[in-house]
Amino acid sequence: MRVVLEATAVTKRYGTNPPAVDAVSLALAEGDLVALSGPSGSGKTTLVHLLAAFEQPETGAVRWAGLDGNGGLTSTPPTWAQLSFVPQALGLLHELTVADNVGLPARLAMVGEAERDARTAALLEALGLAHLARRRPGQCSLGEQQRVAVARALHRRPLVLLLDEPTAPQDAASTQRIDDVVTTAAFHGTACLVATHDPAMVAVAHRRWHLIDGTLEEVDGG
Ligand code: ADP
Ligand code: MG
Repeated sequence: MRVVLEATAVTKRYGTNPPAVDAVSLALAEGDLVALSGPSGSGKTTLVHLLAAFEQPETGAVRWAGLDGNGGLTSTPPTWAQLSFVPQALGLLHELTVADNVGLPARLAMVGEAERDARTAALLEALGLAHLARRRPGQCSLGEQQRVAVARALHRRPLVLLLDEPTAPQDAASTQRIDDVVTTAAFHGTACLVATHDPAMVAVAHRRWHLIDGTLEEVDGG
């Protein structure tokens, strides 16, 4: 499978502390579903921020596949159609409705309204949010807001999807919904990396990575 994201010996240090991410090398390929675990403070968020180009590594490099499909990796930071991200702090726009938040990446990319609304409706349904479409995020629970962020991230069928602990505030049924939409995205070719403690997500992942003090180990899988 085509590699769509690659990190080479990436290191990030905050101030004079020991590195939060220490010489991590990894590759994500189309259709990958990887569970990233590790104790609190082990560097999971820092690593996904580096992979999303939200932060710059001190040493090492991250490269992403372009959308032109010619297979090459570049150091040009990705767009939302290439890479989307569900952060721990969700970044929903509180003046927009739930449905408008979910459709926002498509609207910014000038996707037509009919296509955009159909995809929004399907994602809201899959994530158990259809009844909340016209509410504002502030009128939804934290778990519901998190599912809105997952729907928004999936709207444009990105090449790469990074999720930072997406099921922490979810009950079992909603955790299952998130696991299902992520598994479906991977099945359709999106490379998915999920920082998670959820045993069900770890179980369905194709590969399992573990971070300890910024050092990445592959637990099993290819
Ligand atoms: P995790 O997501 O696994 O809990 P983080 O990547 O958030 O871990 O944090 C890794 C380490 O880096 C921790 O020791 C944390 O305190 C530290 N850290 C994270 N962000 C910052 C920051 N902005 N400034 C200083 N230290 C930070
Ligand atoms: Mg974190």
